[in-house]
Amino acid sequence: MKLADRTTRIASSPTMKVTATVDRLRRSGVEVIDFGAGEPDFPTPEAIKAAAHQALDRNFTRYTPVAGIVDLKRAICERYKADYGVTYSESEVVVTAGGKQALYNTALSLFGPGDEVITHAPYWPTLTEQVKLADATPVLVRTHAEDGFTVRAQPMIDAITPRTRGIIINSPGNPTGALVAEAEVRRIAEAAAARGIWIVVDLCYEKLIYDDVPHNLPKVLAETCREQTVLCGSASKAYAMTGWRCGWQLGPAAVIAASVAIQSHSTSNVTSISQKAALEAVTGPQAPVGAMLDEYRVRRDALHAWLTADPRLRCEKPAGAFYMFVDVGDVLSADRFRTSLDFADALLEEARVAVTPGEAFDAPGFIRISYATSMDHLREGSRRLLEFVARHAPQAATA
Ligand code: PMP
Repeated sequence: MKLADRTTRIASSPTMKVTATVDRLRRSGVEVIDFGAGEPDFPTPEAIKAAAHQALDRNFTRYTPVAGIVDLKRAICERYKADYGVTYSESEVVVTAGGKQALYNTALSLFGPGDEVITHAPYWPTLTEQVKLADATPVLVRTHAEDGFTVRAQPMIDAITPRTRGIIINSPGNPTGALVAEAEVRRIAEAAAARGIWIVVDLCYEKLIYDDVPHNLPKVLAETCREQTVLCGSASKAYAMTGWRCGWQLGPAAVIAASVAIQSHSTSNVTSISQKAALEAVTGPQAPVGAMLDEYRVRRDALHAWLTADPRLRCEKPAGAFYMFVDVGDVLSADRFRTSLDFADALLEEARVAVTPGEAFDAPGFIRISYATSMDHLREGSRRLLEFVARHAPQAATA
């Protein structure tokens, strides 16, 4: 069977593969602790659900403009104005099916054959696969565990070539939870502005930052290269709305117009009911976001304490998002698990704990643990993980 060439260039989402395996095991009656999930375990807040009910009751069930209903577009602009002090107008925003489509619209609008697009590794795989779907080439710049996986400007700038067309930054980052510092973004943006390079920022976890640290990337970019910046955001993680599929893309009107044209020939508007729900999410009280963040913080701290009780499981407390990225290099060896992929497979097989191997994010030697799950699951899953490590690497445990 002959499929299009582009299908050979991309791999299906490895993070979704873990979810599929967990589903399969659970359907066959196996009890699994799932640390793979890339989504909040909280229900969507009541007020948001009520807005959706009301939309249905009022028969708000037809096509909407492709770029989204005006109220929502305005509300997104106002949200960014209030949160970051940046000004976007209705013609500079499009409502998308999650942050994923915002990023995809962006890639298709800006990148093409022969273009290089720089991003940082470890990375969320969709970012690079979308670049490939746009027939461009991802260029990776490593960040390092010793440096908290934060993105540094100099190596990003050093990776620029005459073919560089874009730089994608994800902060807070998946899988590491790392934040990029404003000063580093400013330097990257200045270098990009001087060369006509696009800056794309994936802000899907922007509301999930634990400490009060400066992270006003929209403002920094508005000051340095607004006309070459695209911001991609999402209701998914902040408002526990992953299934509703609602995100947004903010950028110069020409990019937004191109993205709307692309979206008009692929998916059209985001579900009308979801848009009403998202309108409530971004305009309504933000207290539920804070409450969820507080709970994630408690879980993060507990999980970190449990895991680091074994010094071979090395990890920093993430600054944002809800993932712990754990270095398991010390428990890998030729006669046990050669790779973190083997480790994750055996952990699922023997201990019934699902984690995502670092290979999924181009970071072998690590595992990603999502703590978007209950404290009971975290406690039991950590217990099983520690026991599994002690069972398979007993000598090192006493060394
Ligand atoms: N960016 C990152 C870094 C993510 O981890 C995800 C979801 N896993 C997304 C974007 C997209 O999420 P959604 O499409 O649900 O907004």
